[in-house]
Amino acid sequence: MLMSNYKRLEIMFSEGSGCRLSDQHGQHYLDMISGIAVCGLGHAHPAVTTAIRHQAGRLLHTSNLYRIELQEKLADLLVSISGMDATFFCNSGSEANEAAIKLVRLHAREQQREKPVIVVMQKAFHGRTMAAWSATKPDDTHYAPLLAGFTQVPYADINSLKALIKTEHNVSAVMLEPIQGEGGIRIASDDYLSALRELCDHHNLLLILDEVQSGVGRTGRWYCYQHSAIKPDILTTAKALGNGVPIGACLAKKEIAQLFKPGLHGSTFGGNPLACRVAITVLETIEKDNLCKQAAEVGSYLLNKLKEKLTSANIHEIRGRGLMIGIELVQAYPDIVNTALKHGLLINLTAQRVIRLLPPLILTEAEADEAVERLSAVIIELDKQ
Ligand code: PLP
Repeated sequence: MLMSNYKRLEIMFSEGSGCRLSDQHGQHYLDMISGIAVCGLGHAHPAVTTAIRHQAGRLLHTSNLYRIELQEKLADLLVSISGMDATFFCNSGSEANEAAIKLVRLHAREQQREKPVIVVMQKAFHGRTMAAWSATKPDDTHYAPLLAGFTQVPYADINSLKALIKTEHNVSAVMLEPIQGEGGIRIASDDYLSALRELCDHHNLLLILDEVQSGVGRTGRWYCYQHSAIKPDILTTAKALGNGVPIGACLAKKEIAQLFKPGLHGSTFGGNPLACRVAITVLETIEKDNLCKQAAEVGSYLLNKLKEKLTSANIHEIRGRGLMIGIELVQAYPDIVNTALKHGLLINLTAQRVIRLLPPLILTEAEADEAVERLSAVIIELDKQ
């Protein structure tokens, strides 16, 4: 028996191919959520399958007691696509954020900031481990006491942050998602990110970008901040990096990365040969097949089609970047996800009333048309009820 921490839909999938999944009864579905931004290359991508087979027949795991060639290669690849300097590998987005938070604490200690505060954003989501959860919901009482040292401000509001910095002298870092995923596909503008970078530089604060959901090509660039002129001090990535094989990474600028001395942080599985082989294949495939460009182009095609075809008065706003799209409703439709299932469409509802679309990066225009057609039928049906 399983613990009851998930509210699951009844459906079970048995197979997948590209942007499609089929259930145990042989029904087919167009997957517009890709395991919550994980299967960027879609399901059963031949390059990923081959990489797993090959590596499983050779070497799954050694240990971080030893050098790992594939880990070093993947670190270099991530450094070259992100413009950061060094990488630490772990197994999930939460763990990547744990590493980021630890780096901030080490940095603060070096700056003689005794009680460092990380400014986080309202409606953020950084994960479920204790530090990541403290960064997500600093006031949550379920697991009290949470980790101290997190203060929230409204998302993408530079003046609130400036006001906080004036009164709170222990601020050491600012942590945010360039597009809030769980928070309802809320997009920080490039101007906000530039102002934020400037403010951080001025006050000697570290800027952490959590690109666990928005990274690895999803928004049309390797990382979402690359739409703007800024770079973070620390970057976290996971989800699509392994296309379903668990892997996460925390990247940092040299001067921050060097704060992790031997023994200060680690992970048994982090960066093992299997996960790294797969992640290298994912990055090489995105590069070879020009999937960042495809995500940008098909994403803007899909966004425009949604705006054109979804005309319900219950739609408040349709917004997105690349293939990270949110349809904010005026009022939530009860059971929209199950209705979409009946129409052979996998979608997700987040922040109570935002339909979230995170399809594989390999989505074609024809599949985008199909998704819009089905979603339109779902909404027409729900509007009639
Ligand atoms: N950060 C962001 C922005 C996320 O969207 C998520 C997961 O949804 C996480 C962190 C946590 O990642 P994981 O579930 O892999 O620990």
